[in-house]
Amino acid sequence: MKIKSADFVMSNSNVTNAPKDRIPEYAFIGRSNVGKSSLINMLMQRKDLAKTSGKPGKTQLINHFKINNEWFLVDLPGYGYAQISKKKRVIFQYFIENYFKEREQLVCTFVLIDSRHDPQKIDLDFMQFLGENQIPFCIVFTKADKLSSSKLNKQITSYKKKLLQHWETLPTSFLTSSSTNLGRKEFLDFIDGVNQD
Ligand code: GDP
Repeated sequence: MKIKSADFVMSNSNVTNAPKDRIPEYAFIGRSNVGKSSLINMLMQRKDLAKTSGKPGKTQLINHFKINNEWFLVDLPGYGYAQISKKKRVIFQYFIENYFKEREQLVCTFVLIDSRHDPQKIDLDFMQFLGENQIPFCIVFTKADKLSSSKLNKQITSYKKKLLQHWETLPTSFLTSSSTNLGRKEFLDFIDGVNQD
């Protein structure tokens, strides 16, 4: 897919105010600092479409971007943990939960995972939430350039092994680097393929 246009449309905290266009929508989410803004900018080949920052938790809204006038890219706030009645459970703000439950145009959610990290409960819990709500998702391993290729291979293989303890089949995954553009073509071709279906 060639990116011809990438336009910011609006930011919302309430999904009912999100754009009404019935075009396919793809959401991006992950823990703060996972490289989400950098990935979005790399995919769109734009310097500052999504705001990058070293500071965690900067994106606090549902941000819609219209791509090629054909599909929405949605930049979502990160998720975190909260102590709820003595039990720790994954939470994200109520409006994000609503977004996933209400947004009918949502075709696929990209869950971003830092390639260097072992599986973290918070990410696994979040994938569980998506599964329970029948929301299709892919995993996007970020910052692949930060590891040597042998370490990277080992890390991704072990991550997938761990996932298979929770899931019968593995979700589609992508290996990306915003520094080297690794994975850009595969990623955009995947979206193109889904949009054509
Ligand atoms: P966000 O909080 O998830 O939006 O993360 P950012 O995109 O702001 O990235 C967090 C930090 O990781 C920044 O310092 C980025 O420069 C760095 N970073 C993000 N992606 C990559 C990558 O692919 N490779 C490298 N080497 N650094 C990255």
